[in-house]
Amino acid sequence: MFEKILIANRGEIALRVIRACREMGIRSVAVHSTADADAMHVRMADETVCIGPPSSTDSYLSIPAIISACEITGAQAVHPGYGFLSENQNFVQILEDHDITFIGPTSEHIRVMGDKITAKETMRKLGVPCVPGSEGGVPDLATAQTVAEEIGYPVIIKATAGGGGRGMKLARTAEELPDAFRTARAEGKSNFGNPEVYIEKYLGTPRHIEIQVFGDGKGNAVHLGERDCSLQRRHQKVFEEAPGPSIDAETRARIGKTCADAVAAINYAGAGTIEFLYENGEFYFIEMNTRLQVEHPVTEAIFGVDLVREQIRVAEGLPMSFTQDDLEINGHAIEVRINAEKLPNFAPCPGKITQYHAPGGLGVRIDSALYDGYRIPPYYDSLIGKLIVHGRDRNEALARLHRALAELIVDGVDTTVPLFHALLQEPDIQKGDYNIHWLEKWLETNL
Ligand code: ADP
Repeated sequence: MFEKILIANRGEIALRVIRACREMGIRSVAVHSTADADAMHVRMADETVCIGPPSSTDSYLSIPAIISACEITGAQAVHPGYGFLSENQNFVQILEDHDITFIGPTSEHIRVMGDKITAKETMRKLGVPCVPGSEGGVPDLATAQTVAEEIGYPVIIKATAGGGGRGMKLARTAEELPDAFRTARAEGKSNFGNPEVYIEKYLGTPRHIEIQVFGDGKGNAVHLGERDCSLQRRHQKVFEEAPGPSIDAETRARIGKTCADAVAAINYAGAGTIEFLYENGEFYFIEMNTRLQVEHPVTEAIFGVDLVREQIRVAEGLPMSFTQDDLEINGHAIEVRINAEKLPNFAPCPGKITQYHAPGGLGVRIDSALYDGYRIPPYYDSLIGKLIVHGRDRNEALARLHRALAELIVDGVDTTVPLFHALLQEPDIQKGDYNIHWLEKWLETNL
């Protein structure tokens, strides 16, 4: 059993992991940059190690610094959180070489799923339905034109190494294709060091539905239903809910089983998310994330499980603590992402928190690293907290979200809270009637 785990991350997700460790009686090691010396994860951990200057490249992304921190503290395992090194196969390989356990899947699974082309090929072979598109990479514009004609416009050009909504370009017509092709390649190269792109049919009105899966690495796997993450800005999620308002029990059981069987077949270990676009009753695989997601708490709320605890157990070689039959949905949960951003342009808004008050009460969870007087550094992601509410049904969850948002006080910086107040007034949101384009359209006229 692990006695000490190092958390290679910061912010709310580092706290999330520290909390699980503490409940399991495992000591936690926080790593931090010089800019994060006063951060909450540093205050809460049992031990701390400064791993470098503010720039992520020299601290949270520095593999040698993190390995040294493990060696100095004697940590036996590393939890990567999300982002940073969580899907870096090289990091996982180096940990393996140092006999340090990575709390997550193998480097090979990360490699296969980290490249969207190999991920799609693998999933197709495992019987998972995919978005129609090119078979593998598209090397030049002429091929892109042929493929686009075959599948029919509009099409989307995607960098195989892309992520976080970058490296994706829409071509509505043949005229738009050359530019989209070049831009997607350029973004892939500059952001991810890989210019390879592929083409997909662009779906007009899908919802983003993702299935939470969990494997023990020994051929057993379960699914924990879906999350609907269709409310997005620039392909980034802002509001997530579970269960999905458009998914019934039979559909959930069917797509859930397809996903659980797929990851069982490859001996997948730990938490994973299989993302789909869902249109006219059909699922189309877009990518798999081989880590814990930002929005995992909505799944925890409706199933009453602790996914981080489960990740740690599986990494220790223990069996999962539940079977598919144990997993039953209870009620409805919604998460909103609170970012330090100034509306209407969502410009990052770092600075000092002059007053912070977290909401509470029945069915309210806040995952945040904020505290009174904390200074949000300008170097990292603008996510400062997640508000998660749980109710017996969707209407109760919405009412609870409304109530909890009104209790929340974050003074000193601008946040995305006013966006959620406004969204809750919208009949479409109240009914759960939205797709991946809804928010962008709404923002054009409402902010
Ligand atoms: P990333 O890795 O950058 O998150 P994804 O492949 O997961 O990229 O796609 C992110 C979002 O982009 C999706 O949730 C959806 O809103 C949009 N998207 C991706 N593929 C398509 C497609 N074929 N048609 C329409 N929208 C798409």
